[in-house]
Amino acid sequence: MEQLLALLKKFFGYTSFRPLQAEIIQHILRKRDSLVLMPTGGGKSICYQLPAIYLPGITLVISPLIALMKDQVEGLIANGIPAASLNSMMSESEQQQVKQLCIQGKIKLLYISPERVKVDADWFLPRLDISLIAIDEAHCISHWGHDFRPEYTQLAILKERFPQVPFIALTATADKVTRTDIVEQLKLREPKIFISSFDRPNLSLTVRRGLNQREKIRAIVSFIRQHKEQSGIIYCLRRNTTEMLVRELEPFGIHATAYHAGLSPQERDRAQNDFINDRVEVVCATVAFGMGIDKSNIRWVIHFNMPGSIENYYQEIGRAGRDGAKSDTLLFYSLSDLIVLRQFAEESGQQEVNLEKLNRMQRYCESDICRRRILLSYFGEEVEKDCGNCDVCLNPPERFDGSVLVQKALSAVVRTQQQVAMDMLIYILRGSARADLTEKGYHQIKTYGAGRDLSYLEWKEYIYQMIQLGFLEMDYANGNKLKVTALGMKVLYGQSKALLAKYRPATEKETKRSRLAAEEEKAARSRLVRSAFTAKVDEQLWEALKQLRKQLAEKESTPAYIIFSDAALEDMVETKPTTLEEFAQVRGVGQIKLEKYGRTFVSLIRFVLKMPKLA
Ligand code: ADP
Ligand code: ZN
Repeated sequence: MEQLLALLKKFFGYTSFRPLQAEIIQHILRKRDSLVLMPTGGGKSICYQLPAIYLPGITLVISPLIALMKDQVEGLIANGIPAASLNSMMSESEQQQVKQLCIQGKIKLLYISPERVKVDADWFLPRLDISLIAIDEAHCISHWGHDFRPEYTQLAILKERFPQVPFIALTATADKVTRTDIVEQLKLREPKIFISSFDRPNLSLTVRRGLNQREKIRAIVSFIRQHKEQSGIIYCLRRNTTEMLVRELEPFGIHATAYHAGLSPQERDRAQNDFINDRVEVVCATVAFGMGIDKSNIRWVIHFNMPGSIENYYQEIGRAGRDGAKSDTLLFYSLSDLIVLRQFAEESGQQEVNLEKLNRMQRYCESDICRRRILLSYFGEEVEKDCGNCDVCLNPPERFDGSVLVQKALSAVVRTQQQVAMDMLIYILRGSARADLTEKGYHQIKTYGAGRDLSYLEWKEYIYQMIQLGFLEMDYANGNKLKVTALGMKVLYGQSKALLAKYRPATEKETKRSRLAAEEEKAARSRLVRSAFTAKVDEQLWEALKQLRKQLAEKESTPAYIIFSDAALEDMVETKPTTLEEFAQVRGVGQIKLEKYGRTFVSLIRFVLKMPKLA
């Protein structure tokens, strides 16, 4: 373990493992197979890159996107780790060169595209001393996943050819069905499944409702002004909205670029590269943008329009803050988007599922419950506390002890053997005499009519809150029937309390919210004035460090975040290292980067702090 930690600091500049990383690595070193589910930015790469350095031979990494491969290889080389990639975009002689180096044992990590695996399985791969095989984006192998790629099904031959090599399959999204499918298709041997929390506490979550187009643009301008010189993405539903936004932002001095499927491949490449290399800070894009971008310093994501499901939303905001530093997300929700999305869902193949997914997204936007709790419950995680980093937590609505309400509803669910969906549950609680209810004998259960004092709409609101708080879950695959969760059982048996947000009709909510927003803004402004002095030095230092990073990146023609991540620069601002020893302690500074950049950065920090030059 100590040896692994030493390697982590030496090559990556980190002093501790993130949750699950150490367990996964030790499992690999025992030569066992594993399946790893971690959210984007959770730190999957270290799980195979560190064993790759530690183990004697070479590690194969199967990766579907060439852009992503390139980025990873550059990052590894910058940290002093010999890595290379092999894909069909390379010339024959380039490929031969890489193969030679691999056979000579000079490469520790080889990134290879799935279609190359089959071609190279007979001659090239058997000539390597393979110590580990990692399959990134493993959900691509499954028809059940959201991103099926036929080339991935060929990967099954790997386990046949290399039965003694440990495998690690990694993905950021996989439900239970996909999970089982991945294991079967890759023929993993008794794999251990590691599921890490989907929580991304560094992302702030804000939803704003009922703004018209002009108001949205004004809100975006002020948002971007608070995020000066930071990279961000604005997601839009339609291509022409992306272009409209670029035009509308220009007069405010905000230089943005559009990205959508209607552009030529060259135009798209240019937009993407400008963004990656910090030549443009704002991209207005349709959802096509972001796949295969590994830029770790995206500081904010705005949804100009609402996404169609919580999965999509989570994936898109997840592109911000991959380096773990604080990042902001803002979503605009309007009825007109809802109407368009409804249409999409109705025209889709799986109408019922997609409409319900849209419905859950809408509820997320309208809710008065901590937004992170809603997201995590949606992904099946139990959360007992509010997050403190979403707009609801920052402007809390009036709450009351709703334990009795929850008990009434959950007990009715239990007494129907968990066989009813929301509407029927409300009918039971309100004591309806409907035929479909009495036919099933539901009028005889104990909680029948126990909730007559509340209206249909009130119950609907509270039951959604129960889902969002993780007391109930909805079974999509099975007529949206409601099931009581383990957390719900605790409330049912009186072991834990349930705080619900008081039901208010929609119009009332908005006025209160905007008043609160105005107060919040005033408070924020006065906080700003108070801390202005310390903030000024930090701001100067931050600007100077970014500038230096940018110069170095241009000199080396590499993206800035390959030199240092934003998180590393933030750590420098916070700790202000003025000696090389102190600099070595900064998050993200390993041995190579210490030697290469240490003096330059320390000198700059000393200069900004008005200290004498480094001896
Ligand atoms: P994923 O592949 O899961 O999306 P990455 O492997 O790209 O995520 O990691 C996301 C970010 O977190 C990277 O900037 C990475 O360097 C950083 N990171 C990974 N592990 C650690 C760690 N143990 N300590 C600090 N930062 C880490
Ligand atoms: Zn919250």
